Order: sequence, then C-alpha cells, then structure tokens
Amino acid sequence: QAKEKGRNTYQFFAEQRDGRMERRLNLEHGLRKALMNNEFFLVYQPLVHIGNKKILGVEALLRWNKEDEGLISPAEFVPIAEETGMILPIGEWVLREACMQGISWHKNGLNDLLISVNISVRQLLEETFVERVESILSETEFPPTSLELEITESTTMQNMEESLPILNALRAKGIRISVDDFGTGYSSLTYLRQLPVDTLKIDKMFIDDILLDQKAGAIVKTIIDMGHNLDFHVIAEGIESREQIDFLIEQGCIYGQGYHLYKPLHADELKKQLQKNVVMN
Ligand code: C2E
Ligand code: MG
Ligand code: MG
Ligand code: MG
Repeated sequence: QAKEKGRNTYQFFAEQRDGRMERRLNLEHGLRKALMNNEFFLVYQPLVHIGNKKILGVEALLRWNKEDEGLISPAEFVPIAEETGMILPIGEWVLREACMQGISWHKNGLNDLLISVNISVRQLLEETFVERVESILSETEFPPTSLELEITESTTMQNMEESLPILNALRAKGIRISVDDFGTGYSSLTYLRQLPVDTLKIDKMFIDDILLDQKAGAIVKTIIDMGHNLDFHVIAEGIESREQIDFLIEQGCIYGQGYHLYKPLHADELKKQLQKNVVMN
C-alpha cells in the first residue's frame, strides 16, 4: 500500500511538472508571435501627490491579450520573456509605444506629464541600450526629461559594475531613473550612495503591512527618511486604503501609486482623469 501511495505521489508530481512545462512552452511559443500579432497593449497607472491625488505621471504596464486565451499577467510572462531574450524586442516595443502615447498627451496640453517605463536588467545591459533609447526619443520627439526608467533593485544591484556607466549615460541625457520594488533586494548602503537614481519606489509588500505590523511601518518610515536625506524622491507603491495614505502622509511621504488612488487604465480612459487632475510640477 505504501508502494502504491508512493507511486501515486510520484505520478502526481510528475503530472504537475509536465503541466508546468507544457504551460511554459505554450507561453514561450505564444510570445514569439505576440508582437507580430499585435497582442500587446499598455495600460497606465497614475503616479500622484498623495496629499491631493494630483497626477504627476503615469507608469506604463504591459498587457498581453493572448490568442485564444485572453489576458496573461506580466508576472507570469515577463520572466519567460526575460529568460528567452524575447524581452529585448518586447521591451523596445513598450518604450516606443509609451513615448508615442506620451507625446500625444503632451501635445494635447499635458506638457510635463512624466512617463515611467519598466526596464528589465537584460535590456539595460544590452550593449546598444542607450542608443536604442535615444533613437526612440528622437523618433517620437518625446522629451528625455519626461521619461523615467524603472529598474528593479535586486537585479541591478547584482550587476552594479555594469549598470553604473549605463545609468550614468542615461541620466546625462536627462532621463530619470527609479529603483522599483525597493526593499526587496539588497541595497547595501555603499551602493545606495553611488546609485545614479532619482527615485525609490517602496515595494507594495511593506505598504501592505504598515498598519498591521509595527516593524513594517518602521521600515517604511526609515526608507522615507533615508531616501529624502539622500535627495531621492520616494514613492509608496500599492496603496489600497485611506488609512495607509494617512500613515504615509504622517511619515512625510509625498508620492504614491495604488488601487486606492487609481488603477491602471487604458489610454483613452486615462485622458479624462488627466484633464481633470494633472498638476504641472
Ligand atoms: P511593478 O513595476 O512593480 O508594477 C506594479 C504592479 O503592481 C503592477 O502589476 C500594478 O498593476 C500593481 N499594482 C499597483 N497598485 C496596486 C495595488 O494597490 N494593489 C495591487 N494588488 N496591485 C497594485 P502588473 O501590471 O501586473 O505588473 C507586474 C510586474 O510586471 C511589474 O511590477 C513589473 O515588474 C512587470 N512589468 C509590467 N510591465 C512591464 C514591462 O513593460 N516591462 C518589464 N520589463 N516588466 C514589466
Ligand atoms: Mg514598475
Ligand atoms: Mg514595483
Ligand atoms: Mg513589482
């Protein structure tokens, strides 16, 4: 009986593994056709002054409407795109699309609206990355000073030596850099001092717990103070309640993003919100 049970357990895990592999292959295969088939689109989540909800910018977030399957979460497909290298053409598409949308907003009176784009470390470290960004900016006529690139803390810190000159070159063009998911990787204080970035985005994981766990609250307060002392802007990500906003304001946090403020929206839905709520720095 034990043998029987063992075999079933084995079978169960084997099936589960095969299922996962099948899913992965299916997504990998789908990703190769997705650009050609126009299956990607962007949604935009406002980045606001938490005190008055005024919009300073928007973060472009990638969506994949997969043939026959519908929406697939970037949390599932971005890692696959990174591993396979597909993130390079996809990331370039995202940047161009975001800049085209951005210039159209600018031309419609939203002059200083900031557009923030997520960049994988694989893209950042690609030899031609800086030139690619420059050529998209000149092609779209989007001003570099209105573009912000978000890099994740964990992957960038692990490649600090290679990342530093690239980040410096981007900033020399006037492009802003923010560190996404701050607090989840390991930033040694040494790196933080050298890091050529403008903004730290405190990961949602900490914001989730600020009212439940005193230590999470203390960490958030510490990141806000440290960030401000080092002349970074600090943004709280993933704000889901009024109470979190009150706490963050009390701790001196100025900027935020989250479902309680605005969910990610399609460009046309966002236009109405923007016209009502944009603040020009
Ligand atoms: P991220 O850059 O940290 O983006 C924040 C994620 O949190 C987004 O999920 C956003 O929709 C979600 N979010 C914002 N506010 C709230 C909230 O109040 N509650 C909850 N539960 N979630 C909130 P999304 O769009 O699913 O993206 C997930 C991740 O996928 C992003 O995390 C980013 O790392 C990656 N990603 C998205 N678009 C791109 C892209 O164009 N390129 C690359 N390389 N990565 C991307
Ligand atoms: Mg981001
Ligand atoms: Mg984040
Ligand atoms: Mg994240």
